[in-house]
Amino acid sequence: MTIASIIEFQNVTKQYGDGTKAVDSLNLEIKKGEFIVLIGPSGCGKTTTLKMINRLIEPTAGSILINGKNAVRYDVDRLRWNIGYVLQQIALFPHMTVEENIRVVPDMKRTEKGTIKQRVHELLEQVGLDPAVFAHRKPSELSGGQQQRVGVIRALAADPEILLMDEPFSALDPVAREKLQDDMLHLKRSFGKTTVFVTHDMGEALKLADRICLMRDGKIVQAGTPDELRRNPSGEFVREFIGSRKDHLQDVLDLRHWVSGSPYITPKPQTVLTADIRADRLVSVMADHEAVGVEDGGELIGMIDRAAAFRLLAAGRKGAGQHD
Ligand code: ATP
Repeated sequence: MTIASIIEFQNVTKQYGDGTKAVDSLNLEIKKGEFIVLIGPSGCGKTTTLKMINRLIEPTAGSILINGKNAVRYDVDRLRWNIGYVLQQIALFPHMTVEENIRVVPDMKRTEKGTIKQRVHELLEQVGLDPAVFAHRKPSELSGGQQQRVGVIRALAADPEILLMDEPFSALDPVAREKLQDDMLHLKRSFGKTTVFVTHDMGEALKLADRICLMRDGKIVQAGTPDELRRNPSGEFVREFIGSRKDHLQDVLDLRHWVSGSPYITPKPQTVLTADIRADRLVSVMADHEAVGVEDGGELIGMIDRAAAFRLLAAGRKGAGQHD
């Protein structure tokens, strides 16, 4: 194993008592800081793969190495202490405020009180929740999307080395879901945590992943960057899975190569889009604006005008998403 890999599956199989092979001789190396998305049809073994990392499920055969050491050789509580886990329905403690929920683990780790409070407030700001408004609310006073946001930053506040996320946004409506995906992109850039993320949504996978592992019948069919999968699908299954989204309006486009002007435009544009944006959102925004700002990782990088946006949309339809 190379030094940089933090999780390594070596010939891992999980067979249940009734004979179902949920995961079948899986080999996968995940590098430190990588954002890996597991995707595939229902029952292909995504959740089982994820839960073997924090030992909620133990493999029948093979080994999982965490930082080079077999996961079974760790004390299970210590292992989970170091692995954040975010589920579809995050269970916040109902009697605690948002701030108390987020600081549970840092408090247990006896981090200095003033530092924790400051950190909680910074985290809330990173996901667009004004601490003055939200820090003292109870979970029941938040929308579903806000609760998920608190769940994600609660996992980050514990400062785990690895983050496991099992369909964390799938219970949300499309607008809340897209907002959470944008937040996730910001958090990914600012924290760079090794993340294993399970989803059914290829648009979400293409938007968030450094590397996508497409699974079928407990095996990896293809693993590669979003671009590799789009450009060089290894076969019909991959091609169909990538193409199985309803239409190209769900495609995530990259605006970075299409911006013009400098980041120091004055006055600052009122409407600003993130550089990774879904085609349908780009269409609806450009219908109302001649030109809008574009930001990458929270920084303004320039402007995109209507003509460039529509050239990009045309290129995106051909599967390019690039200038050429
Ligand atoms: P989904 O997308 O529907 O959540 P998944 O890809 O996450 O599916 P898993 O939950 O990992 O799939 O399940 C993989 C296979 O293992 C499925 O065929 C499932 O029915 C089976 N399975 C899961 N848990 C058990 C169990 N406790 N006993 C027997 N079979 C199981």
